[in-house]
Amino acid sequence: MRRPSARISLIAVIVLGLVALAAAWALTRKAPGDELGFAVAGEARRGGLSLALAPAVADVAITEARTPGRPLVVIDPGHGGKDGGAPGASGKAREKDVTLLIARELREELAKRGRIRIALTRDGDTFLTLEERAAIARRLGAALFVAIHADSAPNAQARGATAYSLSEVASDADAEMLAERQNGEGAVASAPDASLRALLSDLATRDEMDASADFALRIIREGRGTVLLRPEPHRFASFRVLRRSGAPAVLFEAGYMSNADDEATLLDPVKRGQIVKALARAVEAQAAVGR
Ligand SMILES: [Zn+2]
Repeated sequence: MRRPSARISLIAVIVLGLVALAAAWALTRKAPGDELGFAVAGEARRGGLSLALAPAVADVAITEARTPGRPLVVIDPGHGGKDGGAPGASGKAREKDVTLLIARELREELAKRGRIRIALTRDGDTFLTLEERAAIARRLGAALFVAIHADSAPNAQARGATAYSLSEVASDADAEMLAERQNGEGAVASAPDASLRALLSDLATRDEMDASADFALRIIREGRGTVLLRPEPHRFASFRVLRRSGAPAVLFEAGYMSNADDEATLLDPVKRGQIVKALARAVEAQAAVGR
């Protein structure tokens, strides 16, 4: 017969074994959205366990509002890293740098106003897939999502900003072509399987699409008078990154990198500031109605 102390040790070993098994089970269990293989900051702290995080996603920082419980806007600077986006007409700038400038200044402007929480999908020269960008918004529970771009066109005379909202059908051939190009950009490194693709394609609801159009119109309204807009500045198409963000989402083209005057505007801090202020007013107004 075993001595009591030996029995206690045996029980302790069994209990520890069970705890280890439970921990292993909890780690391998997938939460919704974990199919993409990463978690966002905050989740990693759960239970004191350290999960493997993709560096780009683990870095997402949230700028808090002045009062707690405010809605969160996720700002997505287009392109980055190996994906430079559209080259500037002068050769001085690339789209990926301009989009990051605008995103950071928009964060600064919104933080100064203090009414909304802000996160950027990237805050450096990093490459993210469209899935990663959208997944950051979903995992953070974004109330709004705004992707920032500065396009190029074969016609060097094309100028002005456009706000694109999400729709099943495209407003025009240009919008459809842009969506096709955007959807091909930052293509998935490892293509998601068919079931995941089906799940993601269902994410955008009718309400989100309506709110997406409202948001785009608000940007146009706030920009009128201070921001050079295209003749028909509100357009729509089926953008993958918008569809998957899980929030009312807009893709904002701040102007054309392929036009020398637009490029100069985008590189001018004062003129860029007017674009940023219009975006900030629109984000705040849209967040207010969404509450
Ligand atoms: Zn772009």
